[in-house]
Amino acid sequence: MEWNQYKAWELIGFLAKKEVSSREITESVLKRIEERKQINAYISVLKESALQAAAQTDEQYRTGQIDKKHLIAGIPIAVKDNICYKNNRTTCGSRILEQFIPPYNAFVINRILEHRGIIIGKTNMDEFAMGSSTETSFFGPTLNPADTGCIPGGSSGGSAAAVADSQAILGLGSDTGGSIRQPASLCGCVGMKPTYGLVSRFGLVAFASSLDQIGGFTRDVKDMSLLLNVIAGHDKKDSTSVDRPVPDYFSGIGQLNIKGIKIGIPREYFIEGMDKEIKERIEKVIKLLEKEGAIIEETSLPHTEYAVADYYIIAPAEASSNLARYDGVKYGYRSKSEESANNLIQMYFNTRKDGFGPEVKRRILLGTYSLSSGYYDAYYLKALKVRTLIKQDFEKAFKKFDVLLTPTSPTPAFRIGEKIKDPLQMYLSDIFTISTNMAGIPGISLPAGNNSKGLPVGVQLMAGPFEEKKLLQISYALEQIIKDKV
Ligand code: GLN
Repeated sequence: MEWNQYKAWELIGFLAKKEVSSREITESVLKRIEERKQINAYISVLKESALQAAAQTDEQYRTGQIDKKHLIAGIPIAVKDNICYKNNRTTCGSRILEQFIPPYNAFVINRILEHRGIIIGKTNMDEFAMGSSTETSFFGPTLNPADTGCIPGGSSGGSAAAVADSQAILGLGSDTGGSIRQPASLCGCVGMKPTYGLVSRFGLVAFASSLDQIGGFTRDVKDMSLLLNVIAGHDKKDSTSVDRPVPDYFSGIGQLNIKGIKIGIPREYFIEGMDKEIKERIEKVIKLLEKEGAIIEETSLPHTEYAVADYYIIAPAEASSNLARYDGVKYGYRSKSEESANNLIQMYFNTRKDGFGPEVKRRILLGTYSLSSGYYDAYYLKALKVRTLIKQDFEKAFKKFDVLLTPTSPTPAFRIGEKIKDPLQMYLSDIFTISTNMAGIPGISLPAGNNSKGLPVGVQLMAGPFEEKKLLQISYALEQIIKDKV
């Protein structure tokens, strides 16, 4: 087995015993990236700085400067390209930010560096994280490592593909409506969106601020709890970051017995028209859990049917406001045409016309419309009320259940080009993931084997706000059950 195929927690053991160096691990990851260039998982590979950081970390290991505080010392991590990394290009998958170099680090980047992680590169994504297939990137689509004719899911498709394909050990993404969990499920790795406010959004380029959350991609649940230990915690620079003690997620792993755990199965997540093989697989997982002594009960989240429509009012509204800052003056691309040179307003128009792709423009139009006077009350305000109803469904459910279990995605990875011309079909990809963002609660997608075509299937678990420790413990138990039997 190559070094790039191990999990972070395994590599940390080897590093501590000096059985491998960070340089060797980093080199094996870089080699894999080079060999698998056609996957297009990365927008920027940071070869020089990663090798330099690895050498430095090796030296620190050698001189005893690395201890248990440094949770991911020497481990290569891939970062979605909407997370600012000082002095390194951060494009958001967009032409408008093609040359944008942030002068500061995101909170999560500082955390990675404090823990001596090795940032290996910036990963491909749907433009401004809008999409479910990583096809709207200005830098071309990412391919699914399991079948290169298929999309990897999105919008964090680059990080998902990188981790699933051993082109990184760990990955970071952002999830506004499913952008971590859906690609994790389609690529066959673990993906988690934490509770809103648990991980600082400082330095994450905003899409829909009340829904955006940074989270991770890993190859197993143990690594996810390690990664969450690295990135969770209060940050003064993000006013929505919650100031509360963060438990040690890693030490809780393996401590829980699934027997007696109450798991709700919301019936609205087993819809007409969903993929038959996915349904069968999830039902098999449920049966296995029952056999292990979990208490399984059907339940209802009655407002689920409004979630997608509601999201596509709220997310574009926030996006239209957040993206107003890209005007050719402060950041990135500026139209250089003669017309733009002679007329300021025309310069704004041309910059945005050339700089944004069609999906981003569609969202800006939708959002500007629903926020305009006369429509605000009918659309945006009403959407906020529906959001509260969705949240209340979950509050009620979590009075009774430890976690809820659903499929992550209604379909496996689809063909490249299959849905890109049909936005409504594309929007339905997140039908099972969007509600957790609306409610602000954590959700995780775990691999549940492959379908008959060899495409990965994911199972999603959701828990109440700030219940990540329990969620990860249950996920670990489920992972062990799935490992041998699904
Ligand atoms: N696919 C959804 C969208 O297009 C969610 C994206 C995300 O979570 N960033 O908006």
